[in-house]
Amino acid sequence: MLATWKLLKGNGSGGSSVKFSLSLFPSTTPHSMSLLNHSCDPNCVMVFEGYQLLLRSVQEIQIGEELTISYIESLMPTSERQKQLMRQYCFECDCLNCHNQEKDAEKLAGEEHAWKEVKDAVNEVRYPKSKEEWEQVLARFQKLLSSNTGHLPDTNIYQLKMLDCAMDACINLESWEEALSYGNRTLEPYSLYYPGFHPLRAVQLMRVGKLQYSQAMFPQALETLKQAYNIMKVTHGTDHSLMQTLMEIKEQCEAIMRIQ
Ligand SMILES: [Zn+2]
Repeated sequence: MLATWKLLKGNGSGGSSVKFSLSLFPSTTPHSMSLLNHSCDPNCVMVFEGYQLLLRSVQEIQIGEELTISYIESLMPTSERQKQLMRQYCFECDCLNCHNQEKDAEKLAGEEHAWKEVKDAVNEVRYPKSKEEWEQVLARFQKLLSSNTGHLPDTNIYQLKMLDCAMDACINLESWEEALSYGNRTLEPYSLYYPGFHPLRAVQLMRVGKLQYSQAMFPQALETLKQAYNIMKVTHGTDHSLMQTLMEIKEQCEAIMRIQ
C-alpha cells in the first residue's frame, strides 16, 4: 500500500452527498497523489498542515463519485495545462474545463506582445533573497505595469502573476500601502479563476485582509477576512493553524472596531 489514509472527520450533509477531510502522512507524500485522478475542476484539494498533507472536499460529492484533485496549477490556459499533463504525467485530460476551453479567452486577454513580455519577466524571477534583489524585481514590474496600462487587463494571467509578485516584493520591502494596491487588484481575477472553494483564493484574501488591518482599515479588513474565513473553513478546516491565525486577526479587528 502506498499511503496510509486516516479518516479525520466524516459527516453526511443531507441526501447522499458527503463532506470529509483525510490526512496523509509525509513518508508517502510523493506517491499519495497518484492514488487520485486529476481534474482541472477537482472536487478535492490538498493542503499542508505542518508535515501532514490534508485531502479536503471542496464540492458536494455524491456517494460512489470519483474523488479528484488537480495535479497542476489550474490557472494556466487549456493548451498549457494539456502540455504539462502530457509532459509530466503522460495523459490527456478530458475534463469539462478542457473540453470547453473554459476562460481561455479571459486568461490571455490583452495585447499579445505585452503579455509575452510580462510572461518572460515573471518566469525570470528566481526567489530573490536580498533587499536589493527584491528592489530590482519591483522596479522592473513597476515599469511594466505602468507601460501596460490600457493594454493588459488584470485578468490576463501573466499580468495577474506579475501583480502577485509585485505584492510579494512590496511585502518583503515593507511597502505596505503599495502591497495593498497590488493585492486589491488581484481579488477580482482570483474570484474569476478560483470560484467556489479554493485554498489559493482563501490565502490571497487573508493576505489582503492583513494588509488592510496593518493600515488601520478595520471595516474593510473585517469584510475581507470574513470572506477568507468562509472559504478557508472548507478548504483548510477550522482546526488548521492558518485558520487559527486568521481568527485571531479577525477577533483583534472586531475588538478594535468595538472600542472605536
Ligand atoms: Zn482538464
